[in-house]
Amino acid sequence: MARERIAAVRGMNDLLPAQAPLWEWFEARVADWVRSYGYQLIRTPVLEHTELFVRGIGEVTDIVEKEMYTFEARSSSEKLTLRPEFTAGTVRAAIEHSLTYDAPKRVWSMGPLFRHERPQRGRFRQFHQVNVEALGFTGPDIDAEQIAMLARLWKILGITSARLEINCLGQLEERARHRVDLISYFEQRRKLLDADSVRRLTTNPMRILDSKNPALTQLLADAPEITAYLSDASRRHFDGLQDLLNAAGVAFKVNPRLVRGLDYYNLTVFEWITDELGSQGTLCGGGRYDPLIERLGGKPTPAIGFAIGMERVIECLTQAGHINDAAHVDVYVVHQGGVTAPRAFLAAEQLRDAGLDVICHAGEASLKSQMKKADTSGAEFAVIIGENEVAADSATVKALRTPSAEQRIVPLQILADTLIDALVQADQ
Ligand code: ATP
Ligand code: MG
Repeated sequence: MARERIAAVRGMNDLLPAQAPLWEWFEARVADWVRSYGYQLIRTPVLEHTELFVRGIGEVTDIVEKEMYTFEARSSSEKLTLRPEFTAGTVRAAIEHSLTYDAPKRVWSMGPLFRHERPQRGRFRQFHQVNVEALGFTGPDIDAEQIAMLARLWKILGITSARLEINCLGQLEERARHRVDLISYFEQRRKLLDADSVRRLTTNPMRILDSKNPALTQLLADAPEITAYLSDASRRHFDGLQDLLNAAGVAFKVNPRLVRGLDYYNLTVFEWITDELGSQGTLCGGGRYDPLIERLGGKPTPAIGFAIGMERVIECLTQAGHINDAAHVDVYVVHQGGVTAPRAFLAAEQLRDAGLDVICHAGEASLKSQMKKADTSGAEFAVIIGENEVAADSATVKALRTPSAEQRIVPLQILADTLIDALVQADQ
C-alpha cells in the first residue's frame, strides 16, 4: 500500500538542481563583490535567544509581533527563535567576541531566515538574504559607500530596473517631536485608519507611514514629514550622503515617508526597489542603526548595514532571461562490471587526483545505456574500461561533443595527461 507523502512546510522552498546554477552564479558574484569592498565573512547560528530579537528588532514590529518562529528548548524552558534577520545575531557576535575592540569592522553573511508571513510571490517563510554590516563607522561616507556598492552589484548582475530611495530619520529626539505631531495628525483622522494603524498609533506611530494599505495612500501623503524635524547635524549627515552619491553618479530619490520595518534605525535609511516583481518589489533595504549595539549590551558603536532578498534578485534575473548552464563534469567513466568495475573506480580516482571532474558509472547497466548517461551528463569525454582494456592496462577514450572524433586507446599511465591536453585544446 502506498504511504502518504510528506510535503515541504508551507512557504519553504526546495532549491532544485535545475535552478542551482543560477544561485551558485549569483552567490559567487556576491562573494567577489563583498571582497572588493573589504568585507569579511561572519556566520552566526540560525537559532538565537528570543530576547535578542525582541530587544534588537523592537517589540512593536511586524517581525516580533507576529512573524517569529519561537519555541521552548527541550532541556530547559529557554525561549529560542529561528533568526528572522541577520543584524541582531551579527551584533550579538560582535559584542561577544569584541570584534570592534581595536578597529571598525566590515562583515557580511548569507543564508536562510524565517518569518511566519503569508506566503505569496516574493514572500516566503524561509527565505535568504545577503547581509552586509559596517560596525564602528559614523558616516556619511560609509553610508554612501554601501549604497554605491549596491549600485555596483546591480551592474555586475545585469539588473537595470533597481531604483534607489533614501531618507533621513534623524535621531531619537527629532523622532520624538515628529511623533507628537504624527499622533495628533492621525488622531484627528482616526476614522480613516485601518485596525493595524489604530494599534500602532499608541505603540509606534511612525510605522503607520510604512503601511502597505492602498486605502491609506492619501492620508499618508499629507502626514507630517520627518524632514521638517531634523536637527542641523542630521541634515548635514543627509546632505553629506547626497553629495557623495551625486559625486559617484548614483541616482536616487528622497522619499520622506520611507521609514523601514525595523525599530532601531536612525539617520540614513534606504531601499532599492524594482517594478518588475509586482507588489513585493523591494530588493534590498538598509540603514544606520547607531543605538543598537549599546541596546544589546555593547559599548556605544555606530553602525550601518543592509540586506538583499536573494529570492527576489533571483526572480529578477530569471525574468530577464538570465540562463546559467549546469556545470558538467569532464569525464564519464563507463565499465563492464566484474573485474572492470574496480579498475574503473580506481581510474576515476586517479583522474580526480589530476584535477579532473569525473562521474564513474555506479551500478550495473549495458554499455549502450551507460554511453547514453555519459552523453546526458554533459561530460566532454567517455572513458571506457572493458575487459580488453583491463587486459591491456588501457582505456578507450571517446570525445562526446565532436561527432566525427575517432575512439582512441590510451594507456592508463598517460590517461589523465591525454585528457587534460584534449580539454585544453577544446577550450582554444
Ligand atoms: P517588507 O516590508 O516587504 O516586509 P521588510 O522591511 O520586512 O520588507 P527587511 O527585513 O528589510 O524587509 O528585509 C530585507 C529584504 O529581504 C527585503 O527587502 C526583501 O527583499 C527580503 N525579504 C524580506 N522578507 C521576505 C520574505 N518573507 N520572503 C522573501 N524575501 C523577503
Ligand atoms: Mg516584512
